[in-house]
This record gives sequence, C-alpha cells and structure tokens, in this order.
Amino acid sequence: MELRLYDTLSREKRTFVPLDPNNVRMYVCGPTVYDFAHIGNARPVIVFDVLFRLLRHIYGEAHVKYVRNITDVDDKINDRAARDFPGLPLNEAIRKVTEQTGRQFHADVDALGALRPSVEPRATEHIGEMREIIEKLVAGGFAYVAEDHVLFSPQAMNAANSALPRYGALSKRSLDEMIAGARVDVAPYKRDATDFVLWKPSKPGEPSWPSPSGIKAEGRPGWHIECSAMAWKHLGEHFDIHGGGIDLVFPHHENEVAQTCCAFHRERMANYWMHNGFLQVESEKMSKSLGNFITIHELLRDWPGEVLRLNMLKTHYRSPIDWTMKSLEESAKTLDDWYRVAADVAPGEPAASVVEPLLDDLNTPQAIAALHGLRGNDIASLAGSLRLLGFLSESAAQWEGRKQQASGVDAKEVERLLAERTAARSRKDFGESDRIRDLLAAMGVTIKDSKEGTTWEIAR
Ligand code: AMP
Ligand code: ZN
Repeated sequence: MELRLYDTLSREKRTFVPLDPNNVRMYVCGPTVYDFAHIGNARPVIVFDVLFRLLRHIYGEAHVKYVRNITDVDDKINDRAARDFPGLPLNEAIRKVTEQTGRQFHADVDALGALRPSVEPRATEHIGEMREIIEKLVAGGFAYVAEDHVLFSPQAMNAANSALPRYGALSKRSLDEMIAGARVDVAPYKRDATDFVLWKPSKPGEPSWPSPSGIKAEGRPGWHIECSAMAWKHLGEHFDIHGGGIDLVFPHHENEVAQTCCAFHRERMANYWMHNGFLQVESEKMSKSLGNFITIHELLRDWPGEVLRLNMLKTHYRSPIDWTMKSLEESAKTLDDWYRVAADVAPGEPAASVVEPLLDDLNTPQAIAALHGLRGNDIASLAGSLRLLGFLSESAAQWEGRKQQASGVDAKEVERLLAERTAARSRKDFGESDRIRDLLAAMGVTIKDSKEGTTWEIAR
C-alpha cells in the first residue's frame, strides 16, 4: 500500500516513507485548555484521527505513535482563572480551569469517535526539556538572554554556515521582507524585530518555574518552545509527520522548526508537514462577535458525534469547509441508513475502493462516495470500511434508542399505538389506522409496513 501525503514544506504530494516502519511517529498541536473547544477545533482532531487509523491499518496498531499535546500554560488560561475563580489563589484557579477544560475536551473528542493519541503530554510537565533546548540554543549562538527574557534570533539562524533549514522556508516567507516590514514599536529587550520569545518573566502570582541559566528570577515558557520540547521528549529530534491547522504554519510551526533544528543541528524536524484548512459556519467566519461561534459540546446536544464526524469528512481536509445545518441534516440521514443496514453485520475487510482514495492524501470525500457505492452491493465490506473510518461504534438499537431519547419520543407509547393500528387494520378500519399513522407522524415517527411486519423510526 502506497500512501501519498501533501507536504506543506515541499508544497507537493509525496510518497510517505517512514523513518522506521516499526515506529511511525506523528505530532499534532493540541488545544490550549481555557474554554470549550469549538467546531473548528474539531477539524484537526477528526482529520488526524483518520490519518492515525490509516497508519495503524498500514503499519499495524503497535507501530504507530501519535502525540497530541495539551497546552496548559497560557495568558488566556490565567485570565480565565482570575475571572471565574476570583476568590482562589491564581495557581489553584488555573488548575481548576485546565482540569475542567481538559475533561470537557476529552468528552467531546471521544464523542466524535476520535481515538485517544498514544501520548497526551502537558506543557507544564515538560518545563525541564524546554529549559534544556533553550540552553542549547543560547550556547549555539541562536538565542540570547535580555532583561530576564530569552529570545530566539532568526537572523542568527540564517547567518549560520551549516546544513540548517532557512528560517521562513516552511511558510515561504522571506526573512529579509519580514525585517523590512517589521513594526517600529519593538519590545526594548529584542535585538531585532523578528526575534521571538523562548522564555519570559512571570508576573507576581502567575505560574513560574526556575529559569534557564543566566536568569535569576523565575519565569515561564513561550508557546512555540512547548511543542519543540514535547515532540523531542516523546518522538525524538526528527520524526515523520507534524500536523495542525493552517493558521499554525506561521509563526508557530516556523518557530518550532527553527528551535528544534538549531538545538539539535538538524536539517529537518518532521519529514511531512500537514495542515487542515479552516472551517466557517454558514459561509461566515466563526467568531464570538458574529454570534455564530459553536462549541462541540453544544452540537453534541442535537447530533450524535458520528454525524459531526461524517459531516467534517465530506470535505477534503485541505479545502475550506462550510459548516451548514443543511449538510448536517444530510449527514444524519446517511448515518441513520448506514446504521440500519451495517451496524449489526459482521464487518468484512475495508473495501479497496474506500482505502485507495484515503491513501491519496486522505481523500475522504471520494472514500465516502465509495461507501455509498458499497451500500447497494456489499454490506459486510461497507461495515468494515465504516469501522476503519471510525464509525459504527454503537449497535443499530443503541443508535435508534439515542435518537428516540433525543427526540423525546416514548418508545412504549409508539409500540402501543402501533398495536392499536395493527388491530384496526385487521378489522379493516382504515379510517382509524390512518388516524394513528398521522398521529405518529405528528410525533415525528415514520412507519414502514412490509411483509415481515411494521417497523418505525424517528424522522430527523
Ligand atoms: P487553538 O486552540 O486555537 O490553538 O486551536 C487548536 C487547533 O484547532 C489548531 O490546530 C488550530 O489550527 C485549529 N483550528 C482553530 N480554529 C479552526 C477553524 N476555524 N477551522 C479549522 N481548524 C481550526
Ligand atoms: Zn504546536
């Protein structure tokens, strides 16, 4: 099986060759845990879960390591903690916020059918590794200490006469243009406008840790260094795939590459850089001010997680996605049907017609088209293929039962009315049987008569 992936660095689809097929390694930037995750945040979770499943399918479950971090040190977390728990000491309040938000994130992504990554490292548990990388960077002349900060110098990186990548290569930005376009009001401790923070002082009461050598006061890390440290600890200096949303290419991933490559004198950090496109809602950018900001948590009240998952995968991961009610309704209908015909069937091997498009840079829309094709002729293979994609985690009865619960329809009452209708029909009282059918329809229940008897379901 040949897998081809689009690599943001080389701007082309390339055949995926792992560094070690017995230990395929992938890192994806995870959430900053300060609030409910929104449906845009669900996109990298679902997309890279499909890739994780596909890699396990190709290389074997025991041979793929997927790391997705949890960023639990950030100004937004501090602000939230101070706002929500004004009576508590800040550090305690922060712990409450990150614990609550972390738990909620797990509940959300579990419901979306995403497997837990192999490791979910927390930034606050990797401060030692961050300090170590920072000290290597200072020793190598790529970073410097100024006013209790440590700053990385992209200009020092690009001046180095070595096999390092150029700063700006990933995001295709020229450092010269960045220098020319730099703003004038640059923080006084920076030598150059393009320098970025590796370490900074903490304000009184804020979380703080012993600083890298050369700084007496305690401090805290910048955001970019966190991922370099966690990826290094769990995947090594050089690994296979690094992913995240397209908004992370610059500056976050550009800076991660700079830190890791300069600290370890490497030409590359990851061999493939993958980025998902952005999600918008009913053709508008999602934002709190527009009032169209939707959390995964809210959506899960109205829709099973697998409906959100299917809806996400109908669009190719690199294209922008327009999240609409209409499309959600269609996804729900499709899954209702697949559950009815395939959930209780012994799954066969995933079909080649589904796997092949996935091998071509995760072409999920084409894989879904192939699922529709299997619906008419190979239900066992439909079941196996759906499972490969992370669907059918429930039985058909559980799925239908949940729908009934969500709709507020009382199954016992429906059964009672159906029995009455059957009795009316057998005494040829069609007026009464039609009345009961209309009554059920008004409750949102559709019935189907066949030779085997009458079945019913909740119309969405
Ligand atoms: P954040 O918590 O903002 O750092 O985002 C966590 C992940 O969600 C990152 O990989 C982002 O790139 C991604 N992300 C954020 N907003 C969107 C969006 N509207 N569409 C797709 N991905 C997003
Ligand atoms: Zn990151």
